[in-house]
Amino acid sequence: MNNKGLVSLVGAGPGDAELLTLKALRLMQSADVVVYDRLVSDDILALIPSGVTRIAVGKMPGHHCVPQDQINDILVNLARSGRHVVRLKGGDPYMFGRGGEEVLVLRAQGIRFEVVPGITAASGCSAYSGIPLTHRSLSRRVQFITGHFREDEALQYDWQRLADPDSTLVFYMALANLDQICHQLIAAGLPASTPAAAVQDGTSRQQRRLISTLKHLASDIRTEAITAPAMIIIGQVVTLADELNWFNPAEQDNTGDEHTATKIHESIVHHA
Ligand code: SAH
Repeated sequence: MNNKGLVSLVGAGPGDAELLTLKALRLMQSADVVVYDRLVSDDILALIPSGVTRIAVGKMPGHHCVPQDQINDILVNLARSGRHVVRLKGGDPYMFGRGGEEVLVLRAQGIRFEVVPGITAASGCSAYSGIPLTHRSLSRRVQFITGHFREDEALQYDWQRLADPDSTLVFYMALANLDQICHQLIAAGLPASTPAAAVQDGTSRQQRRLISTLKHLASDIRTEAITAPAMIIIGQVVTLADELNWFNPAEQDNTGDEHTATKIHESIVHHA
């Protein structure tokens, strides 16, 4: 076996290419192959030199994702042939990114690996939407929660434990189950008036932000046609969203794409 093979599992951050770490950039530029996911933005892919092979595993023609087993095989085979592989994932590889599963496979196969953290979508969306995840007197705890279980299995949570008015709830992958999530949180005692936000395409030029309440969030998201990828943030910290807002996607350098510019707008729905 060729011992030179190495897989660098690298977080690409939430979208804005300038949120890449220096280490991520260096590895992307020195790798033999970059194997990347659907959530890695075009701006980031543009930083991969033309001599580096790219393999997309997020979405195949016909919108099927490459199954995890096949991704694992691709990584193992490339590393076995002595390649330096960058496995590039959106956000942070160890936050709802199945990064741990891939590393377990590499380890079992005796393949060298390293892991480079990235800015997770919760942090990116928080900063770029003016919603701190913690704030003295408003939130002393943050819960990162998946809104989607494997193979569309029903969500099974102890909702009473999640429904803590002194904490911030951050839901990843929650759009499909949002009616149920909000309903369960209210049934478990979280006030229906609790401020709640959705941030779509956080940190990118397409970012959209919607401010609502737990009771109205799901219907407002439908009305405003908020789509994936979106982050849901629930808790009193959302009340800071207007005062702390600074990011104006429309002002970002638009690389001459006028069509994109006309589509950009911010949705703010206020339910006091
Ligand atoms: N490893 C990633 C998360 C992967 S799960 C990370 O650390 O960020 C995919 C979910 O992340 C999406 O369904 C969405 O909820 C969230 N997400 C990823 N990128 C996002 C973005 N730019 N804006 C809003 N949500 C995002």
